[in-house]
Amino acid sequence: MRPLIGLSPGFDLKDENVTMRPGYLRCVELAGGLPVVLPAAEDPAVLAEVMARCDGFLFTGGPDVDPALYGEERLNDTVFVSPLREKTEFPLFRAALATGKPILGVCRGIQLINAALGGTLVQDIASQRPGCLPHRQEKPGTEPSHFVTLSPGTPLARLLRAERLAVNSFHHQAVKTPAAPLLVNALSEDGLIEALSMPGHPWLLAVQWHPELMPGAEHSRRLFAAFVQACRGEK
Ligand code: MN
Repeated sequence: MRPLIGLSPGFDLKDENVTMRPGYLRCVELAGGLPVVLPAAEDPAVLAEVMARCDGFLFTGGPDVDPALYGEERLNDTVFVSPLREKTEFPLFRAALATGKPILGVCRGIQLINAALGGTLVQDIASQRPGCLPHRQEKPGTEPSHFVTLSPGTPLARLLRAERLAVNSFHHQAVKTPAAPLLVNALSEDGLIEALSMPGHPWLLAVQWHPELMPGAEHSRRLFAAFVQACRGEK
């Protein structure tokens, strides 16, 4: 049986329809997992059952994390927060973390994981890190727009067997101070944190780029393959 992998959904602004980008579903499926969109379970008993049934969790891209979570005011109009997403996804993450099952974070996912564990974020790269590369690319997500350097010996470097990756980039925020339990696994050429792992956790990796938009890239295939394999209970 395929491992069951729960994906955190987004919500559209107008009528709060549940949204899910197809790339996440497709990449999990291609890697041998069975993707399911997680419900916004408010009943603790339902949440517990969701956690028990899933073999792993993917925290997807989306709007900005509420700066209040790391003790800051909203910096400017570029900071966009979805209250419904905040309300539903943090309980899912905390519960998922408590299971010790594999967790993959993508884009907002890395920011959510970092903020939930006590780290802080750059709220707006353009105004707070003016020397940085453009991290919101114009090109389609199938194409890379900058390089990241993997820190030697980190879980991501070992898993991908690489020192440098060409990745896409669709973020205007980034990890500022990594949360104490997290380890930096990759930096962009301009020094932004682009990947984190959690030493001591059985399998937690989070990346700032969108591997699900580059399903043909070897590093995307390896990342999803390793995630699904870990969800299957294999090393
Ligand atoms: Mn980037």
